[in-house]
Amino acid sequence: MYLSKLFIPILKETPAEAKIKSHQLMLRAGMIKQSSTGIYSWLPLGFKIMKKIEQIVREEQNKIGAQELLMPTIQSAEIWKESGRYEDYGKEMLRIKDRQGKEMLYGPTNEELITEIFRTSVKSYKSLPQLLYHIQWKFRDELRPRFGVMRCKEFFMKDAYSFDLSDDEARKSYNKMFFAYLNTFKRLGLTAIPMEADTGPIGGDLSHEFVILAETGESKIYSDKRIFDLDISKYNGKDDSIKELRKKYGDFYAVTDDKFNKDDFEKKVKKENQLITKGIEVGHIFYFGTKYSEKLNAYVQNKDGKNLPVHMGSYGIGISRLVGAIIEAYHDDKGIKWPLPVAPFTLSIINLMPEDKNCSDTAVSFYNKFLEQEIDVILDDRICSIGKKLSDNELIGVPIQLIIGKRDLNEGVVELKNRLNNSSKKISLDSAINNILSETKI
Ligand code: ATP
Ligand code: MG
Repeated sequence: MYLSKLFIPILKETPAEAKIKSHQLMLRAGMIKQSSTGIYSWLPLGFKIMKKIEQIVREEQNKIGAQELLMPTIQSAEIWKESGRYEDYGKEMLRIKDRQGKEMLYGPTNEELITEIFRTSVKSYKSLPQLLYHIQWKFRDELRPRFGVMRCKEFFMKDAYSFDLSDDEARKSYNKMFFAYLNTFKRLGLTAIPMEADTGPIGGDLSHEFVILAETGESKIYSDKRIFDLDISKYNGKDDSIKELRKKYGDFYAVTDDKFNKDDFEKKVKKENQLITKGIEVGHIFYFGTKYSEKLNAYVQNKDGKNLPVHMGSYGIGISRLVGAIIEAYHDDKGIKWPLPVAPFTLSIINLMPEDKNCSDTAVSFYNKFLEQEIDVILDDRICSIGKKLSDNELIGVPIQLIIGKRDLNEGVVELKNRLNNSSKKISLDSAINNILSETKI
Protein backbone atom coordinates (compact mmCIF):
# COMPACT_ATOMS: atom_id res chain seq x y z
CA MET A 1 0.00 0.00 0.00
CA TYR A 2 1.19 3.51 -0.88
CA LEU A 3 0.33 6.06 1.77
CA SER A 4 -0.62 8.59 -0.91
CA LYS A 5 -3.45 6.23 -1.94
CA LEU A 6 -4.65 5.28 1.55
CA PHE A 7 -7.95 6.77 2.63
CA ILE A 8 -6.73 8.28 5.85
CA PRO A 9 -8.15 11.63 6.89
CA ILE A 10 -5.44 12.71 9.34
CA LEU A 11 -6.45 15.63 11.56
CA LYS A 12 -4.02 18.35 12.54
CA GLU A 13 -5.87 19.47 15.63
CA THR A 14 -7.11 17.40 18.51
CA PRO A 15 -10.92 17.39 18.33
CA ALA A 16 -12.36 19.13 21.37
CA GLU A 17 -15.01 16.47 21.99
CA ALA A 18 -12.41 13.76 22.64
CA LYS A 19 -11.52 13.61 26.31
CA ILE A 20 -9.11 10.69 26.49
CA LYS A 21 -5.92 9.93 24.61
CA SER A 22 -7.15 6.90 22.70
CA HIS A 23 -10.21 8.72 21.40
CA GLN A 24 -8.14 11.75 20.39
CA LEU A 25 -5.55 9.63 18.62
CA MET A 26 -8.10 7.47 16.83
CA LEU A 27 -9.76 10.58 15.42
CA ARG A 28 -6.49 12.29 14.59
CA ALA A 29 -5.07 9.20 12.87
CA GLY A 30 -8.20 8.90 10.74
CA MET A 31 -9.20 5.53 12.17
CA ILE A 32 -12.83 6.23 12.93
CA LYS A 33 -15.51 8.78 12.25
CA GLN A 34 -18.51 9.36 14.45
CA SER A 35 -21.73 8.95 12.52
CA SER A 36 -24.06 9.78 15.42
CA THR A 37 -23.78 9.72 19.21
CA GLY A 38 -22.01 6.51 20.23
CA ILE A 39 -22.01 5.13 16.69
CA TYR A 40 -18.89 5.08 14.54
CA SER A 41 -17.77 4.25 11.06
CA TRP A 42 -14.49 2.39 10.96
CA LEU A 43 -12.22 3.88 8.32
CA PRO A 44 -9.61 1.71 6.55
CA LEU A 45 -6.79 2.14 9.08
CA GLY A 46 -8.99 1.55 12.13
CA PHE A 47 -10.79 -1.31 10.47
CA LYS A 48 -7.54 -3.04 9.58
CA ILE A 49 -6.38 -2.92 13.19
CA MET A 50 -9.72 -4.17 14.49
CA LYS A 51 -9.54 -7.08 12.04
CA LYS A 52 -6.09 -8.02 13.35
CA ILE A 53 -7.36 -8.06 16.91
CA GLU A 54 -10.40 -10.05 15.83
CA GLN A 55 -8.17 -12.65 14.18
CA ILE A 56 -6.06 -13.14 17.31
CA VAL A 57 -9.20 -13.51 19.41
CA ARG A 58 -10.54 -16.03 16.89
CA GLU A 59 -7.33 -18.09 16.83
CA GLU A 60 -7.29 -18.41 20.62
CA GLN A 61 -10.97 -19.43 20.65
CA ASN A 62 -10.34 -22.06 17.99
CA LYS A 63 -7.34 -23.34 19.95
CA ILE A 64 -9.57 -24.43 22.83
CA GLY A 65 -12.01 -26.10 20.49
CA ALA A 66 -14.64 -23.38 20.33
CA GLN A 67 -16.56 -23.33 17.05
CA GLU A 68 -17.39 -20.16 15.22
CA LEU A 69 -20.85 -19.44 13.90
CA LEU A 70 -22.68 -16.23 13.11
CA MET A 71 -25.97 -15.14 14.61
CA PRO A 72 -27.87 -12.13 13.29
CA THR A 73 -27.83 -8.69 14.89
CA ILE A 74 -31.64 -8.46 14.79
CA GLN A 75 -33.43 -10.88 17.10
CA SER A 76 -37.03 -11.72 17.80
CA ALA A 77 -38.43 -10.46 21.11
CA GLU A 78 -40.12 -13.80 21.76
CA ILE A 79 -37.14 -15.67 23.20
CA TRP A 80 -36.32 -12.70 25.40
CA LYS A 81 -39.83 -12.84 26.78
CA GLU A 82 -39.32 -16.55 27.50
CA SER A 83 -36.17 -15.84 29.51
CA GLY A 84 -37.76 -12.88 31.25
CA ARG A 85 -35.08 -10.48 30.13
CA TYR A 86 -37.24 -8.55 27.66
CA GLU A 87 -38.52 -6.48 30.56
CA ASP A 88 -35.39 -6.69 32.75
CA TYR A 89 -32.99 -5.34 30.15
CA GLY A 90 -34.66 -1.96 30.25
CA LYS A 91 -33.84 1.04 28.13
CA GLU A 92 -30.44 -0.21 26.94
CA MET A 93 -32.22 -2.52 24.53
CA LEU A 94 -33.05 -1.06 21.15
CA ARG A 95 -36.54 -2.30 20.33
CA ILE A 96 -37.83 -2.33 16.78
CA LYS A 97 -41.00 -3.45 15.00
CA ASP A 98 -41.05 -4.90 11.52
CA ARG A 99 -43.79 -4.07 9.00
CA GLN A 100 -46.01 -6.82 10.38
CA GLY A 101 -45.76 -5.24 13.79
CA LYS A 102 -43.63 -8.10 15.10
CA GLU A 103 -41.46 -7.09 18.04
CA MET A 104 -37.77 -7.32 17.29
CA LEU A 105 -34.61 -5.99 18.87
CA TYR A 106 -31.00 -5.29 18.02
CA GLY A 107 -29.10 -7.87 20.08
CA PRO A 108 -27.19 -6.51 23.09
CA THR A 109 -25.96 -10.06 23.83
CA ASN A 110 -26.91 -13.56 22.70
CA GLU A 111 -27.62 -15.95 25.58
CA GLU A 112 -31.25 -16.38 24.49
CA LEU A 113 -30.62 -16.83 20.79
CA ILE A 114 -27.80 -19.34 21.21
CA THR A 115 -29.85 -21.32 23.71
CA GLU A 116 -32.70 -21.40 21.23
CA ILE A 117 -30.34 -22.71 18.54
CA PHE A 118 -28.95 -25.28 20.94
CA ARG A 119 -32.27 -26.56 22.25
CA THR A 120 -33.75 -27.28 18.82
CA SER A 121 -30.91 -29.56 17.80
CA VAL A 122 -29.18 -31.02 20.85
CA LYS A 123 -31.12 -33.59 22.82
CA SER A 124 -28.54 -35.99 24.21
CA TYR A 125 -25.53 -35.90 26.49
CA LYS A 126 -23.61 -37.52 23.63
CA SER A 127 -23.46 -34.14 21.85
CA LEU A 128 -21.91 -32.41 24.85
CA PRO A 129 -19.85 -30.47 25.64
CA GLN A 130 -20.39 -27.65 23.13
CA LEU A 131 -18.50 -24.41 22.94
CA LEU A 132 -19.84 -21.96 20.37
CA TYR A 133 -18.92 -18.39 19.60
CA HIS A 134 -19.52 -15.59 17.17
CA ILE A 135 -18.02 -12.19 16.49
CA GLN A 136 -20.76 -9.74 15.77
CA TRP A 137 -21.95 -6.18 16.31
CA LYS A 138 -23.96 -5.52 19.45
CA PHE A 139 -26.16 -2.59 20.30
CA ARG A 140 -26.73 -1.15 23.75
CA ASP A 141 -28.41 2.18 24.08
CA GLU A 142 -25.92 3.38 26.68
CA LEU A 143 -27.11 6.28 28.80
CA ARG A 144 -23.80 8.11 28.44
CA PRO A 145 -21.76 6.94 25.46
CA ARG A 146 -18.25 8.32 25.87
CA PHE A 147 -14.55 7.91 25.25
CA GLY A 148 -14.99 7.01 21.60
CA VAL A 149 -15.07 3.28 20.96
CA MET A 150 -14.62 2.48 24.65
CA ARG A 151 -18.23 3.01 25.55
CA CYS A 152 -20.39 3.32 22.51
CA LYS A 153 -23.81 2.16 21.48
CA GLU A 154 -22.81 -0.09 18.60
CA PHE A 155 -19.73 -2.18 19.30
CA PHE A 156 -18.01 -5.32 18.07
CA MET A 157 -17.88 -8.23 20.47
CA LYS A 158 -16.76 -11.82 20.56
CA ASP A 159 -19.24 -13.76 22.61
CA ALA A 160 -18.92 -17.45 23.37
CA TYR A 161 -21.33 -19.84 25.08
CA SER A 162 -20.63 -23.18 26.74
CA PHE A 163 -23.04 -26.08 27.20
CA ASP A 164 -22.25 -28.94 29.58
CA LEU A 165 -24.07 -31.79 31.25
CA SER A 166 -22.89 -31.17 34.78
CA ASP A 167 -21.69 -28.41 37.02
CA ASP A 168 -18.29 -30.06 37.15
CA GLU A 169 -17.92 -30.20 33.36
CA ALA A 170 -19.17 -26.63 33.02
CA ARG A 171 -16.47 -25.39 35.36
CA LYS A 172 -13.92 -27.05 33.08
CA SER A 173 -15.29 -25.10 30.13
CA TYR A 174 -15.06 -21.96 32.23
CA ASN A 175 -11.44 -22.73 33.00
CA LYS A 176 -10.63 -23.27 29.34
CA MET A 177 -12.01 -19.85 28.50
CA PHE A 178 -10.21 -18.30 31.45
CA PHE A 179 -6.95 -19.62 30.02
CA ALA A 180 -7.80 -18.63 26.44
CA TYR A 181 -8.50 -15.08 27.62
CA LEU A 182 -5.17 -14.75 29.35
CA ASN A 183 -3.40 -15.97 26.22
CA THR A 184 -5.43 -13.71 23.96
CA PHE A 185 -4.64 -10.55 25.90
CA LYS A 186 -1.00 -11.51 26.20
CA ARG A 187 -0.76 -11.89 22.43
CA LEU A 188 -2.29 -8.44 22.08
CA GLY A 189 0.51 -7.03 24.22
CA LEU A 190 -1.71 -6.46 27.24
CA THR A 191 -1.46 -7.53 30.86
CA ALA A 192 -5.10 -8.22 31.67
CA ILE A 193 -5.87 -9.30 35.20
CA PRO A 194 -8.81 -11.57 35.93
CA MET A 195 -10.72 -9.97 38.76
CA GLU A 196 -13.55 -11.49 40.68
CA ALA A 197 -16.69 -9.73 39.63
CA ASP A 198 -20.38 -9.64 40.29
CA THR A 199 -22.48 -11.60 37.86
CA GLY A 200 -25.12 -8.88 37.86
CA PRO A 201 -28.29 -9.40 35.85
CA ILE A 202 -26.74 -12.35 33.96
CA GLY A 203 -26.99 -14.41 37.18
CA GLY A 204 -24.87 -17.23 38.58
CA ASP A 205 -22.09 -17.27 41.13
CA LEU A 206 -18.82 -17.32 39.21
CA SER A 207 -17.50 -14.48 37.12
CA HIS A 208 -14.26 -12.73 36.22
CA GLU A 209 -13.69 -9.42 34.57
CA PHE A 210 -10.43 -9.06 32.67
CA VAL A 211 -9.09 -5.63 33.34
CA ILE A 212 -6.06 -3.73 32.10
CA LEU A 213 -4.64 -0.86 34.08
CA ALA A 214 -5.32 2.60 32.70
CA GLU A 215 -5.82 5.93 34.41
CA THR A 216 -8.65 6.63 32.01
CA GLY A 217 -10.45 3.38 32.78
CA GLU A 218 -13.97 3.36 34.12
CA SER A 219 -13.58 0.46 36.55
CA LYS A 220 -12.13 1.12 39.97
CA ILE A 221 -9.93 -1.79 40.99
CA TYR A 222 -8.37 -2.93 44.22
CA SER A 223 -5.54 -5.40 44.05
CA ASP A 224 -2.40 -6.89 45.43
CA LYS A 225 0.07 -5.54 42.92
CA ARG A 226 2.04 -8.78 42.86
CA ILE A 227 -0.75 -10.25 40.73
CA PHE A 228 0.70 -8.36 37.76
CA ASP A 229 3.88 -10.41 37.91
CA LEU A 230 2.23 -13.80 37.45
CA ASP A 231 3.65 -15.61 34.46
CA ILE A 232 1.15 -17.71 32.50
CA SER A 233 3.73 -19.27 30.19
CA LYS A 234 4.39 -22.10 32.63
CA TYR A 235 0.82 -23.36 32.36
CA ASN A 236 -0.87 -25.40 29.69
CA GLY A 237 -4.46 -25.92 28.60
CA LYS A 238 -5.09 -29.05 30.70
CA ASP A 239 -7.70 -28.62 33.39
CA ASP A 240 -5.33 -29.42 36.27
CA SER A 241 -2.84 -26.87 35.05
CA ILE A 242 -5.49 -24.18 34.62
CA LYS A 243 -6.90 -24.98 38.08
CA GLU A 244 -3.45 -24.37 39.50
CA LEU A 245 -3.20 -21.11 37.60
CA ARG A 246 -6.60 -19.99 38.80
CA LYS A 247 -5.54 -20.80 42.32
CA LYS A 248 -2.42 -18.67 41.85
CA TYR A 249 -4.53 -15.75 40.71
CA GLY A 250 -6.93 -16.45 43.56
CA ASP A 251 -4.08 -16.12 46.07
CA PHE A 252 -3.84 -12.42 45.30
CA TYR A 253 -6.59 -10.00 46.11
CA ALA A 254 -8.00 -8.42 42.93
CA VAL A 255 -11.56 -7.18 42.71
CA THR A 256 -13.60 -4.50 41.02
CA ASP A 257 -15.67 -1.93 42.81
CA ASP A 258 -18.78 -4.00 43.34
CA LYS A 259 -16.90 -6.79 45.13
CA PHE A 260 -14.69 -4.50 47.19
CA ASN A 261 -14.63 -4.80 50.95
CA LYS A 262 -12.29 -2.45 52.80
CA ASP A 263 -11.69 -4.66 55.84
CA ASP A 264 -11.03 -7.67 53.69
CA PHE A 265 -8.60 -5.74 51.50
CA GLU A 266 -6.62 -4.38 54.42
CA LYS A 267 -6.52 -7.74 56.14
CA LYS A 268 -5.39 -9.68 53.08
CA VAL A 269 -2.99 -7.23 51.43
CA LYS A 270 0.02 -5.67 53.12
CA LYS A 271 0.11 -1.90 52.84
CA GLU A 272 3.11 -1.90 50.49
CA ASN A 273 1.37 -4.26 48.07
CA GLN A 274 -1.96 -2.46 47.93
CA LEU A 275 -2.81 -1.03 44.55
CA ILE A 276 -5.95 1.05 44.13
CA THR A 277 -6.28 2.29 40.63
CA LYS A 278 -8.44 2.35 37.53
CA GLY A 279 -8.77 -0.09 34.72
CA ILE A 280 -10.53 -0.89 31.48
CA GLU A 281 -12.69 -3.99 31.29
CA VAL A 282 -11.73 -5.78 28.09
CA GLY A 283 -13.42 -9.10 28.74
CA HIS A 284 -15.93 -10.68 31.07
CA ILE A 285 -16.75 -14.33 31.66
CA PHE A 286 -19.71 -15.83 33.51
CA TYR A 287 -20.83 -19.19 34.72
CA PHE A 288 -24.54 -19.12 35.39
CA GLY A 289 -25.50 -22.79 35.58
CA THR A 290 -29.02 -23.63 34.49
CA LYS A 291 -30.55 -20.15 34.68
CA TYR A 292 -31.32 -19.85 30.97
CA SER A 293 -31.62 -23.53 30.11
CA GLU A 294 -34.43 -23.99 32.63
CA LYS A 295 -36.33 -20.93 31.50
CA LEU A 296 -35.79 -21.64 27.82
CA ASN A 297 -36.30 -25.37 28.13
CA ALA A 298 -32.86 -26.49 26.95
CA TYR A 299 -32.77 -30.02 28.37
CA VAL A 300 -30.69 -33.02 27.35
CA GLN A 301 -30.96 -36.69 28.21
CA ASN A 302 -28.24 -38.16 30.37
CA LYS A 303 -26.95 -41.77 30.19
CA ASP A 304 -29.90 -43.02 32.23
CA GLY A 305 -32.46 -41.36 30.01
CA LYS A 306 -33.19 -38.60 32.49
CA ASN A 307 -33.83 -35.07 31.19
CA LEU A 308 -31.54 -32.44 32.68
CA PRO A 309 -31.12 -28.73 32.03
CA VAL A 310 -27.72 -27.91 30.50
CA HIS A 311 -25.16 -25.92 32.48
CA MET A 312 -24.13 -22.80 30.66
CA GLY A 313 -21.55 -20.06 30.68
CA SER A 314 -21.02 -16.98 28.54
CA TYR A 315 -17.80 -15.24 27.66
CA GLY A 316 -17.35 -11.81 26.07
CA ILE A 317 -14.44 -9.84 24.68
CA GLY A 318 -14.92 -6.25 23.54
CA ILE A 319 -13.03 -6.28 20.26
CA SER A 320 -13.77 -2.69 19.26
CA ARG A 321 -13.09 -1.49 22.83
CA LEU A 322 -9.72 -3.26 22.65
CA VAL A 323 -8.58 -0.96 19.85
CA GLY A 324 -8.93 1.98 22.24
CA ALA A 325 -7.59 0.02 25.21
CA ILE A 326 -4.40 -0.93 23.36
CA ILE A 327 -3.85 2.73 22.45
CA GLU A 328 -4.30 3.72 26.11
CA ALA A 329 -1.50 1.28 26.92
CA TYR A 330 0.71 2.13 23.92
CA HIS A 331 1.14 5.78 23.09
CA ASP A 332 3.35 8.80 23.74
CA ASP A 333 3.06 12.53 23.10
CA LYS A 334 3.59 12.02 19.39
CA GLY A 335 1.03 9.33 18.78
CA ILE A 336 0.30 5.64 18.85
CA LYS A 337 2.90 2.90 19.26
CA TRP A 338 1.25 -0.26 17.94
CA PRO A 339 2.54 -3.54 19.33
CA LEU A 340 3.67 -5.69 16.39
CA PRO A 341 0.86 -8.29 16.46
CA VAL A 342 -1.87 -5.69 15.90
CA ALA A 343 0.00 -2.99 14.01
CA PRO A 344 -1.86 -1.86 10.87
CA PHE A 345 1.47 -2.11 9.07
CA THR A 346 4.60 -3.67 10.45
CA LEU A 347 6.92 -1.46 8.48
CA SER A 348 6.67 2.00 7.03
CA ILE A 349 9.16 3.01 4.37
CA ILE A 350 9.37 6.77 4.58
CA ASN A 351 10.74 8.37 1.46
CA LEU A 352 11.75 11.87 2.51
CA MET A 353 12.43 12.98 -1.07
CA PRO A 354 9.90 11.37 -3.42
CA GLU A 355 10.90 13.71 -6.20
CA ASP A 356 14.49 12.51 -6.14
CA LYS A 357 15.01 9.56 -8.47
CA ASN A 358 17.58 7.79 -6.33
CA CYS A 359 15.39 8.06 -3.23
CA SER A 360 12.30 6.85 -5.07
CA ASP A 361 14.02 3.94 -6.76
CA THR A 362 15.56 2.82 -3.47
CA ALA A 363 12.24 3.17 -1.62
CA VAL A 364 10.31 1.23 -4.25
CA SER A 365 12.95 -1.46 -4.43
CA PHE A 366 12.85 -1.94 -0.65
CA TYR A 367 9.06 -1.92 -0.77
CA ASN A 368 8.98 -4.73 -3.33
CA LYS A 369 11.51 -6.79 -1.42
CA PHE A 370 9.50 -6.57 1.80
CA LEU A 371 6.31 -7.45 -0.04
CA GLU A 372 8.10 -10.57 -1.29
CA GLN A 373 8.98 -11.39 2.33
CA GLU A 374 5.28 -11.02 3.19
CA ILE A 375 5.92 -8.10 5.50
CA ASP A 376 2.89 -5.84 5.88
CA VAL A 377 4.54 -2.71 4.51
CA ILE A 378 3.40 0.79 3.63
CA LEU A 379 5.37 3.21 1.49
CA ASP A 380 5.10 6.88 2.37
CA ASP A 381 5.49 8.36 -1.09
CA ARG A 382 3.54 11.55 -0.34
CA ILE A 383 4.92 14.81 -1.59
CA CYS A 384 4.83 16.92 1.55
CA SER A 385 7.19 18.40 4.10
CA ILE A 386 9.68 16.14 5.87
CA GLY A 387 8.27 17.29 9.19
CA LYS A 388 4.75 16.24 8.27
CA LYS A 389 5.97 12.91 6.99
CA LEU A 390 7.77 12.05 10.19
CA SER A 391 5.04 13.30 12.49
CA ASP A 392 2.24 11.53 10.60
CA ASN A 393 4.14 8.26 10.81
CA GLU A 394 4.63 8.81 14.52
CA LEU A 395 0.94 9.58 14.93
CA ILE A 396 -0.19 6.47 13.04
CA GLY A 397 2.30 4.48 15.06
CA VAL A 398 3.78 2.00 12.61
CA PRO A 399 6.31 0.17 14.83
CA ILE A 400 9.24 -0.17 12.43
CA GLN A 401 10.16 2.73 10.16
CA LEU A 402 12.77 2.81 7.43
CA ILE A 403 13.64 6.38 6.59
CA ILE A 404 15.20 7.11 3.22
CA GLY A 405 16.87 10.46 2.72
CA LYS A 406 19.07 11.91 0.00
CA ARG A 407 22.10 12.68 2.16
CA ASP A 408 22.00 9.28 3.85
CA LEU A 409 21.84 7.51 0.51
CA ASN A 410 24.93 9.32 -0.66
CA GLU A 411 26.70 7.79 2.32
CA GLY A 412 25.20 4.36 1.62
CA VAL A 413 23.00 4.31 4.71
CA VAL A 414 19.33 4.48 5.71
CA GLU A 415 17.75 5.20 9.08
CA LEU A 416 15.98 2.46 10.98
CA LYS A 417 13.58 3.63 13.65
CA ASN A 418 11.78 1.53 16.20
CA ARG A 419 8.71 3.37 17.44
CA LEU A 420 8.15 0.93 20.32
CA ASN A 421 11.43 1.59 22.11
CA ASN A 422 12.10 4.98 20.54
CA SER A 423 15.45 3.86 19.16
CA SER A 424 16.95 4.92 15.90
CA LYS A 425 20.11 3.95 14.08
CA LYS A 426 21.80 4.38 10.72
CA ILE A 427 22.41 1.12 8.96
CA SER A 428 24.08 0.27 5.69
CA LEU A 429 21.89 -0.30 2.66
CA ASP A 430 23.12 -3.90 2.40
CA SER A 431 22.17 -4.80 5.94
CA ALA A 432 18.74 -3.14 5.91
CA ILE A 433 16.70 -6.16 4.89
CA ASN A 434 18.16 -8.53 7.50
CA ASN A 435 18.03 -5.89 10.20
CA ILE A 436 14.37 -5.23 9.56
CA LEU A 437 13.40 -8.87 9.20
CA SER A 438 14.81 -9.55 12.64
CA GLU A 439 13.06 -6.52 14.18
CA THR A 440 9.69 -7.46 12.74
CA LYS A 441 9.67 -10.99 14.10
CA ILE A 442 6.80 -11.49 16.51
P1 ATP B 1 -19.34 -2.43 31.11
O1 ATP B 1 -19.28 -2.83 32.57
O2 ATP B 1 -18.08 -1.81 30.62
O3 ATP B 1 -20.57 -1.65 30.79
P2 ATP B 1 -20.56 -4.89 30.56
O4 ATP B 1 -20.21 -5.58 31.82
O5 ATP B 1 -21.91 -4.36 30.40
O6 ATP B 1 -19.49 -3.74 30.29
P3 ATP B 1 -20.38 -7.33 29.09
O7 ATP B 1 -21.81 -7.62 28.92
O8 ATP B 1 -19.62 -8.08 30.09
O9 ATP B 1 -20.19 -5.78 29.32
O10 ATP B 1 -19.72 -7.36 27.64
C1 ATP B 1 -18.51 -8.01 27.30
C2 ATP B 1 -17.46 -7.02 26.83
O11 ATP B 1 -17.96 -6.16 25.80
C3 ATP B 1 -17.00 -6.07 27.92
O12 ATP B 1 -16.01 -6.69 28.71
C4 ATP B 1 -16.47 -4.90 27.12
O13 ATP B 1 -15.14 -5.16 26.72
C5 ATP B 1 -17.35 -4.88 25.89
N1 ATP B 1 -18.38 -3.83 26.00
C6 ATP B 1 -19.48 -3.83 26.77
N2 ATP B 1 -20.20 -2.72 26.63
C7 ATP B 1 -19.54 -1.96 25.71
C8 ATP B 1 -19.78 -0.69 25.12
N3 ATP B 1 -20.85 0.04 25.44
N4 ATP B 1 -18.90 -0.23 24.21
C9 ATP B 1 -17.81 -0.95 23.87
N5 ATP B 1 -17.53 -2.16 24.39
C10 ATP B 1 -18.38 -2.67 25.30
MG1 MG C 1 -18.94 -6.85 32.08
